[in-house]
Amino acid sequence: MSGSMDFDDGRSKKGYYFSKAAVAGSVVVVILMLLTVGLLVGLVGRPTCANDAAAPTTTSSPPKPTTTLPNDVTTTTGNNDVTTTTAGDNDVTTPNVDATTAPTSNDPWLNSRLPNTLLPIHYNVKIRPVLDIDVATSTYLFYGSSTVQYLCNVSTDYIIMHSHAELIYDNDIKIFDDKTGSEVTVESNTPYRPNQYMVIKTSSPCVVGDTYTMVADSFHGELGDDLTGIYRSEYDNEFGDHRVIAISQMESTGARHTFPCFDEPGFKATFNITLYHNKPDFYSIANMPPIDSQTETINSEVWSATKFDTTPIMSTYLLALVVCDFLYEHGATATGVQTRIYSRPETIKNDEGKFASEISPGVLDVLATHFNVPYPLPKSDQMAVSDFGAGAMENWGLVLYRETLLLFDANISSVHDKYSIAQVIGHELAHQWFGNLVTAAWWNEIWLNEGFASYVQYIAVEGVKPEYKPVSVISATH
Ligand SMILES: [Zn+2]
Repeated sequence: MSGSMDFDDGRSKKGYYFSKAAVAGSVVVVILMLLTVGLLVGLVGRPTCANDAAAPTTTSSPPKPTTTLPNDVTTTTGNNDVTTTTAGDNDVTTPNVDATTAPTSNDPWLNSRLPNTLLPIHYNVKIRPVLDIDVATSTYLFYGSSTVQYLCNVSTDYIIMHSHAELIYDNDIKIFDDKTGSEVTVESNTPYRPNQYMVIKTSSPCVVGDTYTMVADSFHGELGDDLTGIYRSEYDNEFGDHRVIAISQMESTGARHTFPCFDEPGFKATFNITLYHNKPDFYSIANMPPIDSQTETINSEVWSATKFDTTPIMSTYLLALVVCDFLYEHGATATGVQTRIYSRPETIKNDEGKFASEISPGVLDVLATHFNVPYPLPKSDQMAVSDFGAGAMENWGLVLYRETLLLFDANISSVHDKYSIAQVIGHELAHQWFGNLVTAAWWNEIWLNEGFASYVQYIAVEGVKPEYKPVSVISATH
């Protein structure tokens, strides 16, 4: 990823000033007030809750033996408190996984890192972003369904994966034993908000070496403008029409806002993505090329469902999902890898994608030769978007950029802009190997990822634009 811009907060240096006497008088008044409040609190007293800060929405009551209540409501005795939770409630903070045992420090959901008990193998993810405002909620929404097949690596009766609070499940999640095809009984499914987990307790532990499939057949969330997960970007086109598109930013934890997943870089898996769109001129793009397109009628509306080819094993943070009406420039590498530069139609008609389109195939060829490893995917798309938090993001096969870091307008851009664009393209395409093909298991090693890409970008630019003398810049500045 290339970094965000820093903004000057522009705070004024002006202020108000007090005399020493006024300050001394104020201090005396404040001390008297604090003493008075302290006395009142001591006299009146208040209920205490050890987990006030951690459990703002739970109900406290005195400790008592645990009881399982009907209708999915259980009472769990914790350390120094009792927390009443409802299965499926979005606000609980302590999983209801065992009504007879108090949570201990060994409870796997307390660890902010996923346990290695279950390893994802393959996801099927279907996402339908609705690009019209939902009248009932006055928000934009997306709908989805997903499955994930996982391997039982260490026997456990807990399934812990990431699912952000913004993701609302319309139906219960189901687990199937792949060997027998039978459904595994789910005893409870409770969020643990501090770690953005869903904690599923099954009636029996998984068998080491067997695979299982988790099915979330209907969920939805807000298609916000928060630049995280799948989100919406808006622009006015050359004809004055207001357009809403759906794009994504998964690094570092956006995927869990979009579908339930093992959302750590080391938990790689293959993915089949299906995206839906229903507007004229719009289409879907993802990491891999499309392999199938069907129409489906949903709520009396006809939608196009585009299914994309299976990805290589990859991290969730590198997924890219786009539904838009953009145009593109196209090219190809020496080995036939398709390259495209996508942007708003007006900018492509204005030839602003031409420079990026001219150098990108060469950058990929230089890098493939330098690493002696072919570009790993069948296509390389790059897209400029209006609303993007980072400078650019190296999603595998579909890199997203701020417009200023990919588009070159000969009428207003400078020579230095061209140099910057070449550097950022070199950086993001270097990540297609460093970071995407070879990935650090955890974020503490992100410096390796960024360090290599920040160095190799100079070699990439040297290969396609030697007149920029990028390697001599390294010598001069480092
Ligand atoms: Zn980077």
